[in-house]
Amino acid sequence: MTDPHQLLVRNPATEETVALVPAAGPQDVDAAVARAARVQPAWAALAPADRARLLRRFADTVDAHLEELARLEVREAGHTVGNARWEAGNARDLLLYAAGGTERLLGKQIPVPGGWNVTFQEPLGVIGVIAPWNFPMPIAAWGSFPALAAGNAVVLKPAETTPLTALRLAELGLEAGLPEHLFQVLPGYGDTAGRALVDHPDIAKIVFTGSTRTGREVMERCARLVKPVTLELGGKSPSIVFADADLKAALDPLSFLDNAGQDCCARTRILVQDTVLDEARDVLADALAAVVVGDPADEKTQMGPLISAPQLERVRSYVPADAPALRGSAPDGPGYWFPPTVLTGERPDSAAAREEIFGPVAVLLPFTDEQDAIRLANDTPYGLSGSVWTRDVGRALRVSQGVRAGNLSVNSHSSVRYWTPFGGFKQSGLGRELGPDALTAFTETKNVFISTEGPAQ
Ligand code: NAD
Repeated sequence: MTDPHQLLVRNPATEETVALVPAAGPQDVDAAVARAARVQPAWAALAPADRARLLRRFADTVDAHLEELARLEVREAGHTVGNARWEAGNARDLLLYAAGGTERLLGKQIPVPGGWNVTFQEPLGVIGVIAPWNFPMPIAAWGSFPALAAGNAVVLKPAETTPLTALRLAELGLEAGLPEHLFQVLPGYGDTAGRALVDHPDIAKIVFTGSTRTGREVMERCARLVKPVTLELGGKSPSIVFADADLKAALDPLSFLDNAGQDCCARTRILVQDTVLDEARDVLADALAAVVVGDPADEKTQMGPLISAPQLERVRSYVPADAPALRGSAPDGPGYWFPPTVLTGERPDSAAAREEIFGPVAVLLPFTDEQDAIRLANDTPYGLSGSVWTRDVGRALRVSQGVRAGNLSVNSHSSVRYWTPFGGFKQSGLGRELGPDALTAFTETKNVFISTEGPAQ
């Protein structure tokens, strides 16, 4: 039974209670937004170099607490400690990158007759950020830090299962000297605190990361207030492996089971050219057997548990015991464990091949040629990520142009770099985060025309 006034944070590797956190309700949202609105104008009026200095100090404070933040992420989200360290480092690096943007938030001078014309990028006001549980720390950072750098205040609602690293980040911001109430974290449930944030008339923009279903509702509610929204939603991304590829690298199972497959960019549709299908099956079987699944706090572990019991049930529902599959192993006992799995008998239109499972489960599907690969890759409502594996440069370029997704990599499984824009095509989202334009997404463009006509002589 869920307590509406309290969030229960459990360690997904042991099922032990890590913390009980008071849950914010609509009145807490109102109060937080009012406080944020009071401090935002002074923050926006600071000289850009001074805002940058404070954000760099915030980055230094995060850096000094990197191991503590990483260990907290291991406990509340079950991430492997190696991944969790990367995540805390990503939050620090994004603060530094965004700080560099404060002094480069440039407008344009546009030639017009009769005067001068300039544009300004002005902060929006108070930004509402709603984050999911799968990457609690980086996603909180991607939505919040560029917004702060552009002169906004932020109210962040983390997911109900994983509020701890976000709360700690806000404390570290204060310790670094950020103005009080500029960056507030309100843990709470989606249907109360989340909705209140979306519906609040003084929230100038919502940045939502989560499921496509909830994202659709958030967009509908924002539409009533004509409120801008960035949506980072689900995915069902392909790995397109041609016969000439380095099969071992292309079929690295971490491409779909990193973070136990709870990754919006997970390459969960492994599309392999039919001439090397048998070889690919052998490579995958060996690789799955070698994955180290277990205690996420152990340095050697490659895959930890799923986040929760409901998530485990959901993943199980896609994998009947008798389904043809290649399977790795996972611990028994307490914790939400599921073995790395590649389903080998699915049709391209089956639920497992089309829906986002959000667990360490991929489907293996054959294709015949380039056109067939592009057709299969695009045969989903999503369009977030994807990989193209081939040694033929021309083909890599043609396939990259043909696949409708926001973040592609050639001969690599990477997706997110804070230097480059990130976001989805189709039902994977709307708008972009990160990259050189990250701050601009948290501004309005103001145009000012200055007449050079003198008074009539
Ligand atoms: P979710 O949609 O259930 O919840 C996400 C957040 O929204 C949580 O903080 C939740 O409390 C809040 N929420 C729920 N209902 C709400 C409502 N009615 N109004 C406002 N807020 C509400 O998603 P989840 O299960 O936490 O996260 C997993 C999903 O996130 C997956 O689909 C995954 O693909 C997606 N995701 C996308 C990206 C991306 O960048 N594209 C990144 C990570 C995760």
